Amino acid sequence: MIREVLVYPDRRLKTPAAPVATFGPALRRLAADLLDTAREYPRTVGLAATQIGAMWRVVFVDCTGHPKVPDPLGPTILVNPRVVAADGAETGREGCLSLPDITADVRRPVAITVEARDLDGRPLRVEVEGFEARVVLHEIDHLDGVLILDRVASLARDVFPRRSGRGKRSPGAVLVERAATLARLAHAGQRYNESPYTDHLEAVAGTLREHGVDDPELIAAAWLHDVVEDTPVDASAVSEEFGARVGAIVSAVSLPDWPDQDAARRDSWTRIAATPAAVVVKLGDRVANVRTGGPKARKYVGQQEAFRAILAGADAGGFDAQVARLWASLDAALAGLES
Ligand SMILES: [Zn+2]
Repeated sequence: MIREVLVYPDRRLKTPAAPVATFGPALRRLAADLLDTAREYPRTVGLAATQIGAMWRVVFVDCTGHPKVPDPLGPTILVNPRVVAADGAETGREGCLSLPDITADVRRPVAITVEARDLDGRPLRVEVEGFEARVVLHEIDHLDGVLILDRVASLARDVFPRRSGRGKRSPGAVLVERAATLARLAHAGQRYNESPYTDHLEAVAGTLREHGVDDPELIAAAWLHDVVEDTPVDASAVSEEFGARVGAIVSAVSLPDWPDQDAARRDSWTRIAATPAAVVVKLGDRVANVRTGGPKARKYVGQQEAFRAILAGADAGGFDAQVARLWASLDAALAGLES
């Protein structure tokens, strides 16, 4: 039977599972459900019982056909699995059906030995390495209530929004999504590490909730504004319109024909250009104004060349390269908040 896959922040995903003591028909039904459910999701290489709300120590793994696994175990059910040996360590990208919006870089052993039971209760010993070891460890983590976000070294650097298919997204859109994911985590009252970065996000979320703002997207927008502008948002003024505006500002930074500023404001913009996060917001704000015919749009007409010159600066790569640098700097700034 195909079962519903629980999605974070369902509490069961954070709850440890109990060892199986009875090897009977109920266990066989659970194993069949795991297999049926996993097969519903193309390219799924593993599923833990806790992900379908069955709080028993049972996982299903199947790396058949995966390009990184030349000699796979094939479809395997591990009951009461236990890692008895582990060797090496490497970082790799992981996804999870229970965290559908993200992928994350996680450091894990390269080769492991696992002891478990099969469906009849017979002892089973498997030795796996590389990607397949990663899959087995990921699923065993689920049985302990551990998700990939608990395993990342840095929420700022190691968590990535999933591509939703339609072409390459702008750095700004990616940033908004990353903020939204983090805001959802804070919003759900979950802490994923003990960093000031999380504290900061929770503080913003808490203040907004006091003002009746409960929408994760708005919380994300406010937090983002707070980070890049380095000034707190007026919580009482946060509205859907505000969320839309911040979203527009940030996504606008990848538009190619953003406006320039006149020479009279060159110094001011040179100062802003020294603060990458400020550039993202300030330039984006102006782009959004021009693109949407906003109230300030008229002011920017004819200022293109001077502005372009400021940002082209030392790099002939132009705006894309500038945004890439801004993005890297912002990542570094976020990482700085964590340390
Ligand atoms: Zn998972």
